[in-house]
Amino acid sequence: MRVLTINSGSSSVKYQFIDTDTKQSLCRGLVERIGISGTNLSHTRHDGVKTIISDNIVNHETAIEQILKILVHPQFGVISDLKEIDAVGHRLVHAGDKFKQSVLIDEEVREKLYECIEYAPLHNPPNIKGVEASLEKLPGISNVGVFDTTFHVNMPDYAYTYGIPYSYYKNHGIRRYGFHGSSHYYVAHRAAEILGKDIKSLKIITCHLGNGSSITAVKGGVSVDTSMGFTPLEGLLMGTRCGDIDPGVIFTIASRENFDIGQANAFFNKQCGIQGISGLTNDMREIEAEAENGNYQAQLALKVFSYRLKKYIASYMGVMNGADVIVFTGGIGENSDVVRSMSLSEMDNLGIKLDAKINKATRSSETIISADSSPVKVMVIPTNEELVIAMETQRVIMGENQD
Ligand code: AMP
Repeated sequence: MRVLTINSGSSSVKYQFIDTDTKQSLCRGLVERIGISGTNLSHTRHDGVKTIISDNIVNHETAIEQILKILVHPQFGVISDLKEIDAVGHRLVHAGDKFKQSVLIDEEVREKLYECIEYAPLHNPPNIKGVEASLEKLPGISNVGVFDTTFHVNMPDYAYTYGIPYSYYKNHGIRRYGFHGSSHYYVAHRAAEILGKDIKSLKIITCHLGNGSSITAVKGGVSVDTSMGFTPLEGLLMGTRCGDIDPGVIFTIASRENFDIGQANAFFNKQCGIQGISGLTNDMREIEAEAENGNYQAQLALKVFSYRLKKYIASYMGVMNGADVIVFTGGIGENSDVVRSMSLSEMDNLGIKLDAKINKATRSSETIISADSSPVKVMVIPTNEELVIAMETQRVIMGENQD
């Protein structure tokens, strides 16, 4: 089956066209700065041929239109007719308590997707724009929604329940849901495959560290706890999100700044985290460079980021009575040897020992970076959320059961 995957964000749309039989990506690309000046579509075919299109892309609909055009482009495309697309798989962030699995998008599901907006008002609306544009531009082709929350649906109740009146869970669905599910799922399964072990026998801690970051405890293939919560604001320190915080800080800052709820939400999502502490940037590469140059706030941001990660890793070892594997993925996890070594320093009593040389040399490639003598294996595995979305899309369309 050939599946077009669409990951539609607030000002960007990422896509891949994947052959699920060979698990190969035939082409991939990104439309950036939608609705802002300087929008462009960068497209790369499997054979390395690249092109950039800077046509006027004013909204998500025109972005999808351009993506479909490039797929059938005589010079840069990979198919000659849009009918060669068997299905479209959409990354959808938050299912709330409405969907426990990936779904075929029919009229009823489409309506329910709008009901999910209240769970993630920043993330779900642009996802839905991608779905709407695809339904309109590709009539007759099946669309499947794959949720970030799905991998976490089997968390135990004591891991997802907040310390608030139970009626807010029962009546309003307020609980931990967790995100980045396709990424945690992919790297956990890939780790088991690389080690030649059955995932059911393993305790794995997966660290997805990017602009948004989350960490998951995967026991026997099941997500038993994860750091993001009701929204993607909880947990680790992130590019611009505060992560775990005393809720009292929110009341105090909102009161001092005269923020209404929307302003407070935007502040803690967009002006905090690494950006807020450093006062410079949310980009980890720049933070590392500035820290190296002696900038105190950049050094502090790096330390806070790594220290929080260390605390979560240790706590998930407590949750699972140890760990066999720790996996790093995402832009920071795959590339930053500095974050990896800072977060795992002085954890030899917990059985974690990095091979400093291999760690330093590892960028975005599947590599075991722990010392041979380390009881806990530490790995870098580049994530592949799109492949999970494509495989899920195929599974739903073929009516197969989840494993
Ligand atoms: P993502 O959201 O997964 O695309 O990750 C984006 C983050 O990865 C940004 O903070 C980047 O600065 C960071 N990143 C990418 N490459 C590197 C690198 N070589 N060293 C450190 N951080 C990096």
